[in-house]
Amino acid sequence: MTVTMALFTRDLRVNDNPVLAAAARASQVLPVFVVDETICATDYLSPNKAAFLVAALADLDQELRRLGGQLMIRHGDTVREVCRLVRQYSVGEVHIAEDVSAYSRRREDRLRTELAGSDCRLHVHTGSITVAAPGRLTPSGGRDHFAVFTPYHRRWTQLPVRAPLPVPQHIRLPDNAGTEPVPAATDLTPGTRSPEAAPGGESTGRRIARKWLRTDIGSYADRHDDLAADATSRLSPYLHFGCLSATELVYRSDPSAPGTAAFVRQLAWRDFHHQMLRARPELTHRDYRPRNDRWHDDPVLLTAWRAGQTGYPIVDAGMRQLAAQGWMHNRARMITASFLTKTLYLDWRRGARHFLALLADGDMANNQLNWQWVAGTGADTRPNRVLNPLRQAERYDPDGAYVRRWVPELAHLRGSDIHRPWRGHPNGVAGYPARIVDHEQSAREFLATRHG
Ligand code: FAD
Repeated sequence: MTVTMALFTRDLRVNDNPVLAAAARASQVLPVFVVDETICATDYLSPNKAAFLVAALADLDQELRRLGGQLMIRHGDTVREVCRLVRQYSVGEVHIAEDVSAYSRRREDRLRTELAGSDCRLHVHTGSITVAAPGRLTPSGGRDHFAVFTPYHRRWTQLPVRAPLPVPQHIRLPDNAGTEPVPAATDLTPGTRSPEAAPGGESTGRRIARKWLRTDIGSYADRHDDLAADATSRLSPYLHFGCLSATELVYRSDPSAPGTAAFVRQLAWRDFHHQMLRARPELTHRDYRPRNDRWHDDPVLLTAWRAGQTGYPIVDAGMRQLAAQGWMHNRARMITASFLTKTLYLDWRRGARHFLALLADGDMANNQLNWQWVAGTGADTRPNRVLNPLRQAERYDPDGAYVRRWVPELAHLRGSDIHRPWRGHPNGVAGYPARIVDHEQSAREFLATRHG
C-alpha cells in the first residue's frame, strides 16, 4: 500500500487544492498540519490570526472526516514532524504547496534535504496559493520579476485559468492513524481576538464567496472605495489562509458581470506582490527602492496613530476599525499608511508591524509590499504622492458615515463637518484629541526631505 502525505500549510481547504488532489490519488493518505513552533514563537501569529487558524483547522478536519479521513495535527518543527511521520507510516510521497516567504522557502529546502536520502519524494505544487505561479511571468530583458503592475497585469490577464480541481471522493487513512485535537487559539498565542473578527474556515469562506459572486460583486467597480458602503468582498483572510482558492474565484467570476474585471484586478495585485516577494524575500523588511529616508523616531506620534487618537477623524476611524475587526477597508489602509509615513514621517516597518499584529489577513507579501507602495519605497510609479486625509475623507466618506461609526465622540457633528472637528470648536470636541500635527505643513516637510 502506498501512503502519501498531503502537508497543509496555508491552503486550508478541500476544494481546488492541488496538494490534496494529488495526494488523494494514492491508496492511503495522511492529511497533516503541523502547528509550527517557530511561527508560534514570533508575533506573526497574532491572536486574530490564531483564532482564524484554529477555526479553519477545525473546519478542514470536519471536511476531511466527511471524506473518510481526518486531519492529523502535530506540534513542533514542521520538518522534524514530517520526517517522523514519514518513518512511522512509510510515506512514499509528501505533497506541499509552493509559497513565497523566506521562511516557507527555507522550510521547503530543508524538507528536500532531509528527504533526499530516503525513499520518500517531495512534490511541490505551484499555482496553489496564487492564480499565476510566482515566477511564471517575467518581463522581457531577463529580469526575474515584474516591478510595475500595469505590464504585469496585461500579461496576467492573458494567462489561461485552469478549472478548479474537484474535492476528492474518498480519503483512506493508514491503519492506526492517530491525531491530536485541534488546539485552542490561546494554546498558540496569548491574548484575545478582536471582538468583531471574521470567523475562519473554508465553509464560511465559500458561503461568503458564493453570495459575493452571485450578487454583491455587481456594485464593486462603483463602490469599492466608498468607506461606509463596505462594498468589498471581505474575502482577504480566507485567501490568506487558503480557505479559498484565488484560482477558483477567478474561474467562477462571470466576466460579463459588472464589477468582475475590477475585482479580478485586485487578485492580480495579490499575485503581483507574491511574485515580488518570491524574487526578493528581503522585501519584508528592506526597501525595494531606497529613497534615503531618515524616518523620525517619535514614540508619542506612533502611539497616537496606533490608538486612533491622531485628531484626524478619517485616520482614527480606520485604526479603530482595525482594532475592532482585525480588518480594515483598503481605502482606509491607504489613508492611515500614508498618514504614518508621509505626514508623520515614521518608518513604514513600524506601521506594517502594527497591521500584522491585528489583521487576520496579515500577509508578508500583501502587507509589507502595500506598505512599501504607500511609503514610496516600493513599486509605486509616483513615490512622492501624499494622500491628503481631509480630501480623501470628503471624497470617500462624503457624509461622514464611516467616521460616525468608528469615532462615536464625533457622531453628533453634521455631514462632512465631522472630518474637521476643529472648525467651529476652538476648544475642541469633548473626548476627542486635538490634531497631533498639521498635515499641510508635515506634507511640505516630507516633500522637501524627499526632494532635498
Ligand atoms: P477586495 O477589494 O474584495 O479584493 C479582493 C481580494 O483581492 C482581497 O481579498 C485581496 O486578497 C486582494 N487584494 C485587494 N487589494 C489588494 C492589494 N492592494 N494588494 C494585494 N491584494 C489585494 N491585503 C491582504 O490580503 N493582507 C494584508 O496584510 C494587506 N495589508 C495591506 C496594507 C496596506 C497598507 C494596504 C494599503 C493594503 C493592504 N492589503 C492587504 C490590501 C487590501 O487592503 C486588502 O487585501 C483588502 O482590503 C481586503 O479586503 P477585501 O477582501 O474586501 O478586498
